[in-house]
Amino acid sequence: MSSNRKTVIAGNWKMNSGIEEGVNLCKEIISNLPTTDAEIIVCPPHTHLYAVSTVLKNSSVSLGAQNVHKQEKGAFTGDVSAKMVAETGAEWVIVGHSERRQYYGETGADIREKILMAQESGMGAIFCVGERIHEREAGVYLEVITRQINEVLDKRIDFSKLIIAYEPVWSIGTGKTASPSQANEVHMHIRQCVAFLASTKISEEVRILYGGSMKPDNAESLLTEEHVDGGLIGGASLNATSFCGIISHA
Ligand code: PEP
Repeated sequence: MSSNRKTVIAGNWKMNSGIEEGVNLCKEIISNLPTTDAEIIVCPPHTHLYAVSTVLKNSSVSLGAQNVHKQEKGAFTGDVSAKMVAETGAEWVIVGHSERRQYYGETGADIREKILMAQESGMGAIFCVGERIHEREAGVYLEVITRQINEVLDKRIDFSKLIIAYEPVWSIGTGKTASPSQANEVHMHIRQCVAFLASTKISEEVRILYGGSMKPDNAESLLTEEHVDGGLIGGASLNATSFCGIISHA
């Protein structure tokens, strides 16, 4: 954590909870929210966005979504555009999550279009990168991260509306967390990539979150690393006590 960058704790609910359950979870988070300077974001499924936004109104918790379509509108049965998501009150959208890369074949070009569409619609994007286990074991993880960054971030991206999340795929939902020094090494590398693509100033300002089995008992050691500016939380964001427990370390 650096005092120059506002810490972010974001919850990715994935495809979990019903609408009423999600609304109640938000109420519980709001009433148990520890005193914090951190920016708190919850990202429920699309179907919950509008109901959750009414609960979050007048609170310090922001709303995010988990996906948007890369096109503005059209014949894309079952899809939801960035503009539609923004209309619910969402301020952020997660893009490039490894589950979307893996199960939906999303490419760097797709991810870039989604970020641009989200930003054009007035939202910020939480852009995820991360290596798989064989890439970590082969020692090529920094090259993988460089490629994932370079194929997405170009001159059209508004870095003031961008958060990057480092999520090693081997740590997502597995209970295996990257060690604080492993996380910090990659975060520092991401900052160098951003400096090269944009500027040193932007690289010092961009927030880089760690994601992958973050829990209240490992959050502190990760969040105190210099280049770790917060967390993207999956499983532990579905429980108000554990989500607020993480926030208490932010
Ligand atoms: C995620 O999928 O973004 C994530 C970090 O999940 P978990 O915290 O459950 O590992």
